[in-house]
Amino acid sequence: MVGQVAELGGWIAEGGVVVLSGAGLSTDSGIPDYRGPSGSARRGTPMTYQTFTGDDVARQRYWARSHLGWRNIGDARPNDGHRAVADLQRLGLVDGIITQNVDGLHQAAGAHGVVELHGNLARIACLHCGELTGRTEMAARLDAANPAFAGVATAINPDGDAELDDAGLDGFRVVDCLGCGGLLKPDVVYFGETVPIDRVERSFALVGSARTLLVLGSSLTVMSGRRFVLRAAKLGIRVAIVNRGVTRGEPYAGIVVDAPLGIVLPHLAREATSGSPEKIRI
Ligand SMILES: [Zn+2]
Repeated sequence: MVGQVAELGGWIAEGGVVVLSGAGLSTDSGIPDYRGPSGSARRGTPMTYQTFTGDDVARQRYWARSHLGWRNIGDARPNDGHRAVADLQRLGLVDGIITQNVDGLHQAAGAHGVVELHGNLARIACLHCGELTGRTEMAARLDAANPAFAGVATAINPDGDAELDDAGLDGFRVVDCLGCGGLLKPDVVYFGETVPIDRVERSFALVGSARTLLVLGSSLTVMSGRRFVLRAAKLGIRVAIVNRGVTRGEPYAGIVVDAPLGIVLPHLAREATSGSPEKIRI
């Protein structure tokens, strides 16, 4: 393991790194990874686009849950792993960041140019006119429309969907677009939706120009992330993975580090900053 980390330090020092990050990078920020070993399995069924747009009661309940979930995710702060990635970008060693996370924590840590494959919970989109508004404004409108709402979340999922008893949802009032009256939805990709093509193309372009694809905190279970590893492997671009637990990318990876990201990534960033190897204890 220590040898793998040292080898990864060598790869990073050569630059041209493109990061692909998943939920495992944000667990130290208090956002659970329901697929990873540190997270409890998700209990509720994830919202689908079809249900959200076609079922008024399901949408009402979703907004009540998401409103509660936002109190958790909206307060989350970047951790040492996010800061290390931003440091490596500042040093010119990371050329691009693609994330499956919808929490905005890469940018909160100072990273820029992040491709948010699945969107960002901090934005709200009108499904009719397309206008984007901020989540803070939406939360204030929902609070104003539901002064007596006192649901208590029993669990939070990484997509911002909280879990609570349906009894706590009765009477929750949803608000619509102020401009056109259209349905409002968090600007994130739901199950049953495809990732917008421009984001996919930007991501493939980043991967195609990389010297190393560095996967951080993703089990690569879903194809929306795994396809970039497959593309890198096909192009002969080397792949490194830092993740807790088994991933589906291991057959394609030259380096696999199964260790806490909050230890490994700051170590790599310090090495890159000082330009000399240091000992790591995992
Ligand atoms: Zn609208």
